[in-house]
Amino acid sequence: MISEFDIIYRYFTRPSPAAVLGIGDDAALIKPTTGMELAVSTDMLLSGQHFFADADPRKLGHKSLAVNLSDMAAMGARPRWATLALALPEAIVRADEKWLEAFADGFFGLAHTHQVELIGGDTTCGPLNICVTIIGEVAKGKALRRSGARSGDDIWISGHLGDAALALAHEQRRIVLEPGEIAACLPALDTPTARVQLGQRLIGLASSAIDISDGLLADLGHILKSSKVAAVIRMNEINCSTAMKKHLPQPLAIKCLLAGGDDYELCFTAPKSKCGKIQTLSRELEIPLTRIGRIGEGEGLAVLDAEGKLLTLETKGYDHFRI
Ligand code: ADP
Ligand code: MG
Repeated sequence: MISEFDIIYRYFTRPSPAAVLGIGDDAALIKPTTGMELAVSTDMLLSGQHFFADADPRKLGHKSLAVNLSDMAAMGARPRWATLALALPEAIVRADEKWLEAFADGFFGLAHTHQVELIGGDTTCGPLNICVTIIGEVAKGKALRRSGARSGDDIWISGHLGDAALALAHEQRRIVLEPGEIAACLPALDTPTARVQLGQRLIGLASSAIDISDGLLADLGHILKSSKVAAVIRMNEINCSTAMKKHLPQPLAIKCLLAGGDDYELCFTAPKSKCGKIQTLSRELEIPLTRIGRIGEGEGLAVLDAEGKLLTLETKGYDHFRI
């Protein structure tokens, strides 16, 4: 069976010219660019909890980095370096090095796109667990935080929401999607696109930002709590795919849209005065950016349904939207 060191050398050691020292010593060395702060974030993917045990390794490699890139996007940071802690079941290593090859391919494919260097990690034997730490850079004092939303700000989202949750619901046989719909929704679940460029361009425009990993309601809720403000959003303003539109207003589709998670889109707030610039940015990056509501004073998140009726989301009602 291939040794731990052979795995590291064969599959995970690549040049890392932007680091002072990469893989191979007890620690990597990095030097932040002058005038920049480091942004550091970790996300773990667990077999059985975040993906099915038989998931395609190439897609897993992609997703394990993508979910971390998304955290950098939410801070407005430029991702630079990553570390990868891997627990691998003996069966994977013994039976099939193809798994490692495909995983590394998926990981490095996306890393290459964003010029992210893998500079270290840990490799051990155990139930499949993939933990990536990402390190990015952002100009001093400029990072987008959850705490900056102010009363009167618009609430924006990128892309469309709910497709990943719809695809998951289909795989779990809780909803039936047509072949064309599943083909359209599955990439959002398997190979999400982190809004890395958008995040960096929102510096100077957005007052707060978060990436939507746990569902719009929960994640916008984090902005509201951190910023000590309230919000009203309109459900029919939330941009969604043709597949989602077809299944709305089925309760499960509403749940996927509002609380599904795994979207990896950005939710951000911005003063009204930035609206034109944000629309221009949307056209330039070819990423839909839509206003879904407004920040107000006080606390709580009100959602208006398609008829303009209020859905109550406070306390227990809020759980109702969890899936
Ligand atoms: P140590 O015994 O000091 O923990 P290791 O033998 O675990 O060192 O790792 C040797 C080198 O390989 C280190 O530079 C470490 O960061 C790197 N490394 C280990 N596993 C991975 C991995 N899965 N991906 C990238 N680098 C790794
Ligand atoms: Mg180690």
